[in-house]
Amino acid sequence: MDPFDSRITERANLPRNMIENSMFEEEPDVVDLAKDSTTFPTFPTLDPDEAVFEPSSSRLLVRGLGENDLDEDEEDYESSARLLGMTFMNRSSAHRSISSPYTRQGPPRSCSRPSARTMVVCVLFLVIIVSMIMVLYFLPGCTFTRAGCHKPNQTAPLEPVYPVSTNGELFPWAQYRLPYSVHPVSYNLTISPDFDSMTFTGHTVINMTVLHKTKIIVFHGANLIIAKTTFRLENGEASNVTLLEYKPRQQLAIKLSTELKAGQFCVLTIDYSADLSHTYDGFYNSSYTEMDGVRRVLAATQFEPLSARKAFPCFDEPSFKATFLIKINRKPDLMTLSNMPKAQSTTLPGGLIQDEFEHSKVNMSTYLVAFIVANFTPISTNVSNTQVSVYSVPEKKQHTTYALEAASRLLEFYNNFFEINYPLEKLDLVAIPDFLAGAMENWGLITFRETTLLVSNLSSSLEKQVVASVIAHELAHQWFGNLVTMRWWDDLWLNEGFATYMQFMSLQTVYPELDIGDIFLTVRFRALDKDAMNSSHAVSTEVNAAEQVEEMFDSVSYEKGASILLMLNASLPGDQQFKKGIIQYLKQFSGLNTDTSDLWNSLTQVEFSTQHQNVSEMMSTWTSQKGFPLVTVSRRGDDVILTQQQFTLTSDNVTHTPTLWNIPVTYVNDSCSLGPECKQVFTLKTKTATLKVSESVKWLKLNYRNTGFYIVNYDDDGWTALRTALSNNVSVLSSEDRASLIHNMFALSRLGRVSFRQVLNLLNYLSNETETPPVTEALFQLNNIYRLLDKRQEYGLVARLKDFILHLLGPLMDKQTWEEEDSVSKQVLRSALLETACSLNEEKCIQKAKELFKQHVESNATVRIPGDLQQVVFNVAAQSDEGWTTLHQMYYYTKYDAEKRKMLKGLASTQDARQIVMILKYALKGGFIQTQELPLVIKTVCDGFTGYLFAWDFIQENWDTLIEKFPLGSFSIQAIIKFATSQFSTQAHLNQVQGFFSSLKERGSQMRSVQEALETIRLNQRWMNDNLPVLHKWL
Ligand SMILES: [Zn+2]
Repeated sequence: MDPFDSRITERANLPRNMIENSMFEEEPDVVDLAKDSTTFPTFPTLDPDEAVFEPSSSRLLVRGLGENDLDEDEEDYESSARLLGMTFMNRSSAHRSISSPYTRQGPPRSCSRPSARTMVVCVLFLVIIVSMIMVLYFLPGCTFTRAGCHKPNQTAPLEPVYPVSTNGELFPWAQYRLPYSVHPVSYNLTISPDFDSMTFTGHTVINMTVLHKTKIIVFHGANLIIAKTTFRLENGEASNVTLLEYKPRQQLAIKLSTELKAGQFCVLTIDYSADLSHTYDGFYNSSYTEMDGVRRVLAATQFEPLSARKAFPCFDEPSFKATFLIKINRKPDLMTLSNMPKAQSTTLPGGLIQDEFEHSKVNMSTYLVAFIVANFTPISTNVSNTQVSVYSVPEKKQHTTYALEAASRLLEFYNNFFEINYPLEKLDLVAIPDFLAGAMENWGLITFRETTLLVSNLSSSLEKQVVASVIAHELAHQWFGNLVTMRWWDDLWLNEGFATYMQFMSLQTVYPELDIGDIFLTVRFRALDKDAMNSSHAVSTEVNAAEQVEEMFDSVSYEKGASILLMLNASLPGDQQFKKGIIQYLKQFSGLNTDTSDLWNSLTQVEFSTQHQNVSEMMSTWTSQKGFPLVTVSRRGDDVILTQQQFTLTSDNVTHTPTLWNIPVTYVNDSCSLGPECKQVFTLKTKTATLKVSESVKWLKLNYRNTGFYIVNYDDDGWTALRTALSNNVSVLSSEDRASLIHNMFALSRLGRVSFRQVLNLLNYLSNETETPPVTEALFQLNNIYRLLDKRQEYGLVARLKDFILHLLGPLMDKQTWEEEDSVSKQVLRSALLETACSLNEEKCIQKAKELFKQHVESNATVRIPGDLQQVVFNVAAQSDEGWTTLHQMYYYTKYDAEKRKMLKGLASTQDARQIVMILKYALKGGFIQTQELPLVIKTVCDGFTGYLFAWDFIQENWDTLIEKFPLGSFSIQAIIKFATSQFSTQAHLNQVQGFFSSLKERGSQMRSVQEALETIRLNQRWMNDNLPVLHKWL
C-alpha cells in the first residue's frame, strides 16, 4: 500500500511531491456517498461493539467469578485484563504509562474509607487477586505470549478467560490472533451487490484442513449479518451450526460436539448480507458524475490490513494463505474485475449476470483479495505473457496511456531483476474515484487514486514522476508482499520497506530522467527525523491490537525500512550479493510467509567475496531496536576517533542499557571525495573505535552520499574545515553530501549538540549553491523554523529570518524562469524556491505569479501555467478575495486532476478565517471536496498563521466523525494529528493537546501518533527556550 497523505509534511516544500503534482479529477457535483446526507442521512453512530477496541461494556469472565459479580463501571474488560497481567496495548510503559497494570485502580486508596460499596469492591478485589494467583499458578507459560500456545491443546480446560459472544454464550477464544488448529485451503465466494439498497449478499464456502485436534474453529467477520451457517466434515452431511460472534475482536467461532483430528478436511458454508461500506475500506461504494450529468455508482474493495473480514468471513491474517474462486453478480450495464482473469459469464434468472473468475493459481493472503463492480474501460498490452491493462472511468481513458507504458516497462524490469516471472496471466491497474491510500497492491488487480495513475498530455514530468513511483512501488509488491508475505504485521516492513526501496531502485534504471534519487534522499532525511524521537519504534515491533496493526503503516516501516536496505546494499561488495540474496529469498519462500530473520539469513548465505559481511549480525541491530546512532568524529594527529551513541531527541524514559549498532561507516576526504572509488568503509561495532588517516588530510566527510542511516557530528575543527572547503568551492562534495551536512547540522541543533550560530555559519555557503538537494533541504528546515517563530508571534525574528533567507537564496530565486522547464530536478528546485519567495511576500515573485494567473484566467486557460509552478501561482491568487473566488470556480469546473488538487491546496492556503472554516467543513462533509482530501486541507491550513488554531479546534470538535471516516491509527489519522499539533511550542498548547487526547480514552488516547505529537511540542518548546536568545543575537 502507498500511504499518500501521511507523507505530505515531509515533502511540504518540495513541490515534486505527490500532492502538488498528482492529479485528481472529479465532477464538481460528484456526490461523496460517504457524506451525502440525502443518500445516507447520517452515519450510523459508532456502535461500541463495532469498534476495534475493548469497550467498557464488554465483560471478561474469570473462571470462578460469575458475570454478575463484576461491577460494570469498575471492572471493564481492559482493567480486568490488567489485573490478570494481560497487556493489551503491548507498548513500552514509557510510552503508555496508562497501559501499565494497576494504574487505574489503587487498592489501598479505594479501601481507605470503607463504605458499603467500597467494602464490596474490596472483597471483590480480593476474590479477583486470589483467583488471579490461582489462575497464574495453573497457567501454562505460553498463554500470554504473542503467539499463544502452538499446541493442539489450546482449548484445554485451563484456558483462563473467555469473553462473551453477542448471544450471551462464552466465546471459545480469548486472544487477538487466531488459533493455528485449522487452516483454510480454498475459498469459494459469491458476492451480489445491490446499488439500489447499497447492500450486498454473500455466500462463502471455506474448505479447511485440520492441523491440530480441536473442537473449535475461530475466524474473522465484521459487520456481517449472518443468515445461515453449515458445517461438513470431509464427505459427511452438512449440518446447521451456531455461529458465535465476539465483536470487539471481529471474531467468529463455531463449537463442535466432536473433536476434529489432524489431517481431516472440513467445509464451512456461510450465507450473509451487509451494507456496502460508506468509508474507504471493506467492500465500499464510490461514485462519480459523468459529463452528461449522470451519476454513476460503483463498488470496490480495500482490505489491507483488516477489512477482508468486512466483505466475507475469513481467516483474516496474512499467514492464512489460501486459493480463491470468486463469482460476482452484476447488472448487465456494469463490469467486474477481480484478482484473476474472468473465466465465464452466465445470465441468472432475473436478468443479473454472474461473472466467474478463474480459480487463483497462487495461495494468497486475504488482504490481497480484491473485486470491483463498475463501468470502467481499459486499455491493454501484452508483456511477457501477461496482459497488462489500465482501467479508468470511461471519460478519463485518454489519461491512462502513460500508466500502461510505465507498468509494462516496470513489469519487464522486475521479471528480469528478480529472475521470477510475475505469476498471473493478467495485471490490471485501476483508478478508483474514491480511494484513501495512494494505491493498493491487490494481486493482479492493483487499485489507485485517480491522482496516482492518470496522466494527461498536459502533465509535467513531476506528475509523471508521481505516477511512475507509485506504480513501481505496487509492482514490487507483487513479489515482496504477494509472493512472499510477512508472517504477521510486526514485520510489515518486509513488504513496505522493500517496495519503497525497489520503487526508487527500479526507477533509477527504468526512468533515469525522472531524477528519483533526489526524492529518495529526502525520504531518508525525513525517516531519520522521525526515528530520532522517543515515540518511534523498532522496525520489527510486536503488534497485538487492530489499532497497532494500522499504526505499522508509518515512516518506520516504509522509509526507514527502505533506508536500511540501501545502507545494506551500499555496504556490500558490488550490487551482486544483495541482488542474489533477495532472489534466493524470493525463490526459497515463494508462496510462503517469512519474518525478518529469514531475509537476513538468505542474504548472509550468499557467499560472494572474501570480504563477506555477516548480514544477520549487522542488520539485526537495525531492525530490532528503535532509533539510530549518532557517530561523533574527532581527530588527534593521524587518529580519527569514532564514537557511537543513540541519537535521541528526548532523553526521558530512554533505556539505560547501552545501545550499539553495527554501522558500516563510509567516508571520503579532501584528496578524493566525489566518485564511488573514493569511498572508504569502516565497520563500527563497538562504542568507540579509531581509524587512521594521514595527517595531511584536511577534512573528512562521513556517510558518503548519505547512504547510511546515521547522523554525524564532527569536532569544531572538523566542521570548520568542511565549511571552509565548501565556501571555497561547493563542488568538493557531491550535492547529496552537501545536503547531508545541512540536514545533520539542523538535527544536531535540535539535539542541542551545536548552537544555532553554527547552523547559520554553515548555511552561509549556500549563496554559491545551485543544486537541488542542498537547497531544498535548507528551505525545508528554514521554513519549519519560520513557521514556528511566526506562530510564537516573534515578529522581529520572523522579519530577520525572512531577510536571511532572501539574502542567502535571493540571487538564486531571481535566476529562476517562469517558462516550461524539462528537467525534473530543475522543476523541483525552482518550485521550492519560488514557493518560499512568494510565501515570504517577495515582491517580484508575487507580481509574476499574479501576472501568470491573470493571463491564465483571461485567456480561458489557453495560456498555461507550467505544471511545477501552478502551486505557487494558485497560492498567490488565493490570497485576495477576488482571486480566491476565481480559483474556487475553477476548482468547481476543472476536469484535469493535477491542477484540481493544486487548486484545492491554493484555496486552503487562504488567510481569510471564514474561507478557512468553510473549506475545512467542506472537506469533512465530502462532495464538493472529497473527504479523502481532508489531510491535505488540514496540513495546508495549519501551515498558515490564521488557520492553525481553527484547525485544532475543528479536529477536537469533529473527532468522532474523523475516526468514523479514517480508522484509528491509520495513516490518515496519524497525518491529521501530526499536522494539527506539530507547530505548537508552548506549555499552554501542550496542556491542551494532552488534555484532549487523554480525554478520548479508547477513542484514540493510546495511539503512538499522540505520543509523537506531545513529544514534538515539548521539543519545539525546548528548541525555542534554547534558541530564541541565540537567534536574537545572531540572526
Ligand atoms: Zn506498499
